[in-house]
Amino acid sequence: MALCLSQVFNKDKTFRPRKKFEPGTQRFELYKKAQASLKSGLDLKTVVQLPPGENINDWIAVHVVDFFNRINLIYGTMSEFCTEKSCPIMSGGLKYEYRWQDDHKYKRPTKLSAPQYMCMLMEWIEMLINNEDIFPTRIGVPFPKNFQQVCTKILTRLFRVFVHVYIHHFDSIISMGAEAHVNTCYKHFYYFIKEFSLIDHRELEPLKEMTERICH
Ligand SMILES: [Zn+2]
Repeated sequence: MALCLSQVFNKDKTFRPRKKFEPGTQRFELYKKAQASLKSGLDLKTVVQLPPGENINDWIAVHVVDFFNRINLIYGTMSEFCTEKSCPIMSGGLKYEYRWQDDHKYKRPTKLSAPQYMCMLMEWIEMLINNEDIFPTRIGVPFPKNFQQVCTKILTRLFRVFVHVYIHHFDSIISMGAEAHVNTCYKHFYYFIKEFSLIDHRELEPLKEMTERICH
């Protein structure tokens, strides 16, 4: 099975290269603002709220990119444990199986191994967030009408990374001492999608019990 180039050149454990905000842009300033409130010790439920005067799409764009970077890094760290052999199907336990579909190679929902699915997923998100028509970075260029729909799809698919990692690789998270880090990222993500109703509740089902336990 062919590997993604990103898996071969996975030097810094990031599954895909990190997407950066250009310094000097409005998006960069908003990202810094979000980072500052994250570090301020405010609870995550408050941190995700739209700051007064900010545009909701800008706020969502900044978070989608940030979550992509962080979840990408988490999966990159786990990826040596998630192989064709250990995870021949992209799933969340026995009850949930995810099939991949896109507009290019897999036009119909297709069963893939977890590492292949992750590879397609990260490449697909990267392609979207680098597309100026969908994630405009130039001042005055409006977001497309379907922007929130696209973000819903990105976040729904990113949630599946948590599902797979928590259900199939929880022991690796523990052995690497990464539990607190992954949980914080999960909670931040969860409060964010709840705040703006961005993911259908049925998609959240696989981690429902855990969510009730760690997100109050
Ligand atoms: Zn796996």
